[in-house]
Amino acid sequence: MDIRFWGTRGSIPAPGPLTFEYGGNTTCVEIMLASGHRVVIDAGTGMRLLGDHLRSVGDPVSFHLLLTHNHWDHLIGLPFFAPIYDEDTEVVVDGWPHAFQALTRVFDDHMGNGFFPVAFDQLKARIDFLNHVARGPINLDGVTIDSIPLNHPQGGLGYRLREGETSFVFITDNELSAGGGRRLREFAQFAKGCDLLIHDAQYLPEELKDHRGWGHSTYEEAVTLALQAGVRSLLLTHHDPGRSDAQVRQIVERARKMAAAEGGGSLQIDAAQEGSSLHLP
Ligand SMILES: [Zn+2]
Ligand SMILES: [Zn+2]
Repeated sequence: MDIRFWGTRGSIPAPGPLTFEYGGNTTCVEIMLASGHRVVIDAGTGMRLLGDHLRSVGDPVSFHLLLTHNHWDHLIGLPFFAPIYDEDTEVVVDGWPHAFQALTRVFDDHMGNGFFPVAFDQLKARIDFLNHVARGPINLDGVTIDSIPLNHPQGGLGYRLREGETSFVFITDNELSAGGGRRLREFAQFAKGCDLLIHDAQYLPEELKDHRGWGHSTYEEAVTLALQAGVRSLLLTHHDPGRSDAQVRQIVERARKMAAAEGGGSLQIDAAQEGSSLHLP
């Protein structure tokens, strides 16, 4: 499984010199399965760059798009994903059931309203919605994809992909401390023993009191989850739009110190970085 980050920012794009290293585009992650099939998680603004990349390769574009939820920072990249204007593009959308309808509303509504000049049904690509993964595990070329409901306003889904012995868990826009953290054990069970956990770490612990109920976590909570789940590596994501590269680096340092102090010295921790890629053997 090969994973590439096209967008790692939370809430709203945050371009500029202060976010150059970790990137300013919102959530979009590309996963290449061993079969060569492509899965994309979320259609944030990073999806524009993925589209330009796929166009430059020149092959017909076909992939699964797993949507975590229906907030705009996870959907607004699709109108700028160039391959949706090509007839030979095929997109199978699955994920949070309300997200597909929300995705169609990003476009024009035929009434001259809407948020984009083109209507969804005018797109040349074939775009189908399966409402499968929210109802139970799905199998894609031998890869099992499970989902878990998130603690987030209006709901959402996290995902686990298993390919042979390799597992990867992607959970963004999730408030681990919601309800006093009563679902932490459930999330730990979901991520148990995975090779890579990517989790929302938008806030600092000292910021959380002003953002309770907003549906996000701190790096401390993400580390606690990673240690409880016994994962091999943790990548923090959904970086706050106001967070500079230097501040993201500080968060990584603090997270590593916390893990070492709690006996998790072997846990690898970093921050997800736009443009970076990694291979899970
Ligand atoms: Zn978000
Ligand atoms: Zn959200």
